[in-house]
Amino acid sequence: APLIDIDNISFEYEQTKALENISLAVEEGDFLAILGPNGSGKSTLLKIMLGLIKPTKGEIRLFGVDAKNFKKREWIGYVSQKSNSFNSGFPATVEEVVAGGLVKKTGLFRRLPKTAKANVKEALEAVGMEAFLDNRMNELSGGQQQRVFIARALVAQPKVLILDEPTVGIDHRNVQSFYNMLASLNRDKDITLVLVTHDVDTVTDRITHVACLNQTIHFHGFKNQLHT
Ligand code: ADP
Ligand code: ADP
Repeated sequence: APLIDIDNISFEYEQTKALENISLAVEEGDFLAILGPNGSGKSTLLKIMLGLIKPTKGEIRLFGVDAKNFKKREWIGYVSQKSNSFNSGFPATVEEVVAGGLVKKTGLFRRLPKTAKANVKEALEAVGMEAFLDNRMNELSGGQQQRVFIARALVAQPKVLILDEPTVGIDHRNVQSFYNMLASLNRDKDITLVLVTHDVDTVTDRITHVACLNQTIHFHGFKNQLHT
Protein backbone atom coordinates (compact mmCIF):
# COMPACT_ATOMS: atom_id res chain seq x y z
CA ALA A 1 0.00 0.00 0.00
CA PRO A 2 1.16 3.60 -0.49
CA LEU A 3 2.53 5.21 2.68
CA ILE A 4 0.20 8.15 2.17
CA ASP A 5 -2.91 7.66 0.05
CA ILE A 6 -5.14 10.64 -0.52
CA ASP A 7 -8.30 9.72 -2.35
CA ASN A 8 -10.45 12.44 -3.84
CA ILE A 9 -10.37 14.76 -0.83
CA SER A 10 -11.79 18.24 -0.48
CA PHE A 11 -11.35 20.70 2.33
CA GLU A 12 -13.28 23.86 3.07
CA TYR A 13 -12.65 26.45 5.73
CA GLU A 14 -15.84 28.33 6.70
CA GLN A 15 -15.98 30.23 3.42
CA THR A 16 -12.96 29.15 1.42
CA LYS A 17 -12.55 26.02 -0.66
CA ALA A 18 -8.91 25.20 0.05
CA LEU A 19 -8.71 21.83 -1.74
CA GLU A 20 -11.06 20.26 -4.24
CA ASN A 21 -10.99 16.61 -5.33
CA ILE A 22 -7.31 15.98 -4.74
CA SER A 23 -5.90 12.49 -5.17
CA LEU A 24 -2.28 11.73 -4.48
CA ALA A 25 -0.29 8.68 -3.46
CA VAL A 26 3.14 8.71 -1.85
CA GLU A 27 4.91 5.40 -2.35
CA GLU A 28 7.81 4.10 -0.31
CA GLY A 29 11.05 5.58 -1.64
CA ASP A 30 9.47 8.58 -3.36
CA PHE A 31 10.98 12.04 -3.20
CA LEU A 32 7.91 14.09 -3.98
CA ALA A 33 7.66 17.84 -4.41
CA ILE A 34 4.20 19.39 -4.01
CA LEU A 35 4.15 22.66 -5.91
CA GLY A 36 1.65 25.47 -6.00
CA PRO A 37 1.39 29.23 -5.64
CA ASN A 38 0.40 30.91 -2.37
CA GLY A 39 -3.16 30.04 -1.44
CA SER A 40 -3.31 26.86 -3.54
CA GLY A 41 -3.79 24.67 -0.46
CA LYS A 42 -0.30 23.31 0.21
CA SER A 43 -0.36 23.93 3.96
CA THR A 44 -3.89 22.55 4.17
CA LEU A 45 -2.80 19.39 2.37
CA LEU A 46 0.13 19.00 4.78
CA LYS A 47 -2.14 19.42 7.79
CA ILE A 48 -4.35 16.68 6.37
CA MET A 49 -1.34 14.38 5.81
CA LEU A 50 -0.22 15.02 9.38
CA GLY A 51 -3.68 14.29 10.75
CA LEU A 52 -4.09 17.81 12.17
CA ILE A 53 -7.31 18.42 10.25
CA LYS A 54 -9.80 16.05 8.66
CA PRO A 55 -10.86 16.41 5.03
CA THR A 56 -14.42 17.67 4.51
CA LYS A 57 -14.81 14.94 1.90
CA GLY A 58 -12.77 11.93 0.78
CA GLU A 59 -10.51 9.34 2.31
CA ILE A 60 -6.95 9.37 3.55
CA ARG A 61 -5.02 6.22 4.36
CA LEU A 62 -1.63 6.20 6.10
CA PHE A 63 0.48 3.04 5.77
CA GLY A 64 -2.65 1.23 4.59
CA VAL A 65 -4.73 2.28 7.61
CA ASP A 66 -7.60 4.75 7.63
CA ALA A 67 -6.11 7.98 9.04
CA LYS A 68 -8.71 7.95 11.84
CA ASN A 69 -7.24 4.69 13.14
CA PHE A 70 -3.57 5.36 12.41
CA LYS A 71 -1.55 5.19 15.62
CA LYS A 72 2.07 5.33 14.44
CA ARG A 73 2.35 9.10 14.22
CA GLU A 74 6.11 8.89 14.80
CA TRP A 75 6.46 7.24 11.39
CA ILE A 76 5.67 10.59 9.79
CA GLY A 77 8.27 13.23 10.62
CA TYR A 78 7.67 16.91 9.99
CA VAL A 79 9.80 20.03 9.72
CA SER A 80 7.63 23.13 9.74
CA GLN A 81 8.36 26.25 7.80
CA LYS A 82 8.75 28.34 10.89
CA SER A 83 11.15 26.05 12.78
CA ASN A 84 13.93 28.50 11.93
CA SER A 85 12.43 31.37 13.86
CA PHE A 86 12.58 29.82 17.34
CA ASN A 87 16.33 29.98 17.82
CA SER A 88 16.84 33.75 17.85
CA GLY A 89 17.73 34.77 21.37
CA PHE A 90 17.65 31.16 22.51
CA PRO A 91 21.21 29.88 22.43
CA ALA A 92 20.50 26.15 22.48
CA THR A 93 23.23 23.82 21.27
CA VAL A 94 22.82 21.64 18.23
CA GLU A 95 22.83 18.57 20.47
CA GLU A 96 20.03 19.97 22.64
CA VAL A 97 17.88 20.81 19.63
CA VAL A 98 18.28 17.38 18.03
CA ALA A 99 17.73 15.59 21.37
CA GLY A 100 14.43 17.49 21.60
CA GLY A 101 13.19 15.16 18.85
CA LEU A 102 13.48 12.24 21.25
CA VAL A 103 11.44 13.70 24.08
CA LYS A 104 8.16 12.25 22.83
CA LYS A 105 9.73 8.79 22.87
CA THR A 106 11.79 8.90 26.06
CA GLY A 107 10.10 11.56 28.16
CA LEU A 108 12.03 14.50 29.56
CA PHE A 109 15.57 13.87 30.72
CA ARG A 110 17.97 16.04 32.69
CA ARG A 111 21.08 14.59 31.17
CA LEU A 112 21.15 12.96 27.75
CA PRO A 113 21.21 9.13 28.11
CA LYS A 114 24.07 7.35 26.28
CA THR A 115 21.81 5.67 23.72
CA ALA A 116 20.17 9.03 23.00
CA LYS A 117 23.61 10.56 22.45
CA ALA A 118 24.34 7.89 19.86
CA ASN A 119 21.01 8.54 18.13
CA VAL A 120 21.68 12.28 18.04
CA LYS A 121 25.13 11.72 16.55
CA GLU A 122 23.74 9.38 13.90
CA ALA A 123 21.01 11.86 12.92
CA LEU A 124 23.58 14.66 12.63
CA GLU A 125 25.80 12.46 10.46
CA ALA A 126 22.86 11.80 8.14
CA VAL A 127 22.56 15.55 7.45
CA GLY A 128 26.30 16.24 7.38
CA MET A 129 26.33 18.22 10.64
CA GLU A 130 28.19 15.90 13.05
CA ALA A 131 31.03 18.42 13.41
CA PHE A 132 28.62 20.98 14.91
CA LEU A 133 27.31 18.97 17.87
CA ASP A 134 28.49 21.51 20.47
CA ASN A 135 27.82 24.65 18.46
CA ARG A 136 25.04 27.00 19.40
CA MET A 137 22.22 27.39 16.88
CA ASN A 138 22.80 31.12 16.53
CA GLU A 139 26.32 30.41 15.24
CA LEU A 140 24.98 28.53 12.22
CA SER A 141 23.84 29.65 8.77
CA GLY A 142 20.20 29.24 7.68
CA GLY A 143 21.06 26.12 5.70
CA GLN A 144 22.96 24.57 8.61
CA GLN A 145 20.07 25.33 10.98
CA GLN A 146 17.64 23.71 8.57
CA ARG A 147 19.84 20.58 8.52
CA VAL A 148 19.75 20.51 12.33
CA PHE A 149 15.94 20.71 12.31
CA ILE A 150 15.88 17.82 9.85
CA ALA A 151 18.17 15.86 12.20
CA ARG A 152 15.73 16.60 15.05
CA ALA A 153 12.94 15.03 12.97
CA LEU A 154 15.16 12.08 11.93
CA VAL A 155 16.22 11.19 15.45
CA ALA A 156 12.74 9.76 16.10
CA GLN A 157 13.35 7.44 13.09
CA PRO A 158 10.40 8.32 10.87
CA LYS A 159 9.77 6.47 7.62
CA VAL A 160 8.40 9.55 5.87
CA LEU A 161 9.69 13.07 6.31
CA ILE A 162 7.50 16.03 5.36
CA LEU A 163 9.26 19.36 4.81
CA ASP A 164 7.38 22.65 4.48
CA GLU A 165 9.31 25.01 2.20
CA PRO A 166 12.70 23.86 3.49
CA THR A 167 14.86 26.04 1.24
CA VAL A 168 13.30 29.38 2.21
CA GLY A 169 16.03 30.41 4.68
CA ILE A 170 18.92 29.00 2.66
CA ASP A 171 21.39 31.05 0.66
CA HIS A 172 20.82 30.20 -3.03
CA ARG A 173 24.45 29.06 -3.38
CA ASN A 174 23.81 26.32 -0.84
CA VAL A 175 20.48 25.06 -2.16
CA GLN A 176 22.03 22.47 -4.49
CA SER A 177 24.10 20.86 -1.74
CA PHE A 178 21.04 20.92 0.53
CA TYR A 179 19.13 18.93 -2.09
CA ASN A 180 22.09 16.56 -2.44
CA MET A 181 21.84 15.90 1.29
CA LEU A 182 18.09 15.23 1.00
CA ALA A 183 18.73 12.90 -1.94
CA SER A 184 21.21 10.91 0.14
CA LEU A 185 18.63 10.56 2.95
CA ASN A 186 16.18 9.30 0.35
CA ARG A 187 18.63 6.92 -1.36
CA ASP A 188 20.92 5.71 1.44
CA LYS A 189 18.68 5.95 4.52
CA ASP A 190 15.41 4.86 2.86
CA ILE A 191 13.58 7.98 3.97
CA THR A 192 10.53 8.77 1.86
CA LEU A 193 10.45 12.54 1.37
CA VAL A 194 7.57 14.94 0.75
CA LEU A 195 8.52 18.55 0.22
CA VAL A 196 6.19 21.49 -0.21
CA THR A 197 7.26 24.59 -2.05
CA HIS A 198 5.74 27.46 -3.97
CA ASP A 199 8.97 28.02 -5.80
CA VAL A 200 9.19 25.99 -9.01
CA ASP A 201 12.80 27.11 -9.43
CA THR A 202 14.01 25.35 -6.31
CA VAL A 203 12.91 21.97 -7.59
CA THR A 204 15.86 19.95 -8.85
CA ASP A 205 16.41 16.65 -10.62
CA ARG A 206 17.00 15.07 -7.22
CA ILE A 207 13.23 14.94 -6.89
CA THR A 208 11.54 11.85 -8.34
CA HIS A 209 7.91 13.04 -8.47
CA VAL A 210 6.14 16.38 -8.75
CA ALA A 211 2.51 17.17 -7.91
CA CYS A 212 1.07 20.55 -8.86
CA LEU A 213 -1.80 22.00 -6.83
CA ASN A 214 -2.64 24.42 -9.59
CA GLN A 215 -3.10 23.35 -13.16
CA THR A 216 -1.80 26.62 -14.53
CA ILE A 217 1.72 25.58 -13.55
CA HIS A 218 3.41 23.91 -16.48
CA PHE A 219 6.39 22.11 -15.18
CA HIS A 220 8.74 20.46 -17.60
CA GLY A 221 11.40 17.84 -17.21
CA PHE A 222 9.75 15.36 -14.88
CA LYS A 223 8.41 12.03 -16.05
CA ASN A 224 6.54 11.40 -12.85
CA GLN A 225 4.33 14.41 -12.90
CA LEU A 226 0.92 14.42 -11.29
CA HIS A 227 -1.62 17.12 -11.91
CA THR A 228 -4.19 17.44 -9.20
P1 ADP B 1 -0.80 27.57 0.70
O1 ADP B 1 -0.14 26.80 1.80
O2 ADP B 1 -0.65 26.92 -0.65
O3 ADP B 1 -0.43 29.00 0.69
P2 ADP B 1 -3.19 27.31 2.33
O4 ADP B 1 -3.47 25.86 2.51
O5 ADP B 1 -2.53 28.04 3.44
O6 ADP B 1 -2.39 27.51 0.96
O7 ADP B 1 -4.54 28.07 1.99
C1 ADP B 1 -5.48 27.62 1.02
C2 ADP B 1 -6.69 28.56 1.04
O8 ADP B 1 -7.38 28.42 2.28
C3 ADP B 1 -6.31 30.03 0.94
O9 ADP B 1 -7.35 30.66 0.23
C4 ADP B 1 -6.28 30.48 2.39
O10 ADP B 1 -6.53 31.86 2.52
C5 ADP B 1 -7.38 29.65 3.01
N1 ADP B 1 -7.12 29.34 4.42
C6 ADP B 1 -6.01 28.74 4.92
N2 ADP B 1 -6.11 28.57 6.24
C7 ADP B 1 -7.32 29.07 6.59
C8 ADP B 1 -8.01 29.18 7.84
N3 ADP B 1 -7.48 28.72 8.99
N4 ADP B 1 -9.24 29.74 7.84
C9 ADP B 1 -9.79 30.18 6.68
N5 ADP B 1 -9.20 30.11 5.47
C10 ADP B 1 -7.96 29.56 5.43
P1 ADP C 1 1.94 29.20 5.45
O1 ADP C 1 3.14 30.10 5.46
O2 ADP C 1 2.12 27.93 6.19
O3 ADP C 1 1.27 29.05 4.10
P2 ADP C 1 0.27 31.36 6.17
O4 ADP C 1 1.24 32.41 6.57
O5 ADP C 1 -0.42 31.39 4.85
O6 ADP C 1 0.92 29.92 6.40
O7 ADP C 1 -0.83 31.23 7.31
C1 ADP C 1 -0.46 31.07 8.65
C2 ADP C 1 -1.62 30.43 9.38
O8 ADP C 1 -2.82 31.19 9.14
C3 ADP C 1 -1.91 29.02 8.89
O9 ADP C 1 -2.17 28.20 10.01
C4 ADP C 1 -3.13 29.13 8.02
O10 ADP C 1 -3.98 28.01 8.12
C5 ADP C 1 -3.83 30.37 8.59
N1 ADP C 1 -4.50 31.09 7.52
C6 ADP C 1 -4.08 31.28 6.25
N2 ADP C 1 -4.97 31.96 5.52
C7 ADP C 1 -6.00 32.22 6.36
C8 ADP C 1 -7.26 32.89 6.21
N3 ADP C 1 -7.66 33.41 5.06
N4 ADP C 1 -8.05 32.98 7.31
C9 ADP C 1 -7.68 32.46 8.45
N5 ADP C 1 -6.53 31.79 8.66
C10 ADP C 1 -5.70 31.69 7.63
